[in-house]
Amino acid sequence: MIKIKQDRNACIGCGACVSVCPENWEFKGNKPIPKKTEVKEIGCNRQAADVCPVRCIEIEE
Ligand code: SF4
Repeated sequence: MIKIKQDRNACIGCGACVSVCPENWEFKGNKPIPKKTEVKEIGCNRQAADVCPVRCIEIEE
């Protein structure tokens, strides 16, 4: 399984991850969280990590 990790303290709540990857990212309060933290296929989570301005999304393959 691929692990999706997010440093929520570093997250600035810009919503870019939700924009590029609504399949696995949604707002919870003022900051998004991943719907699933373990996935079989990376899918758009790669784009979410790439687009994050503070690089707080880490993908462990
Ligand atoms: S792109 Fe990064 S900083 Fe922006 S909301 Fe998503 S996790 Fe937070």
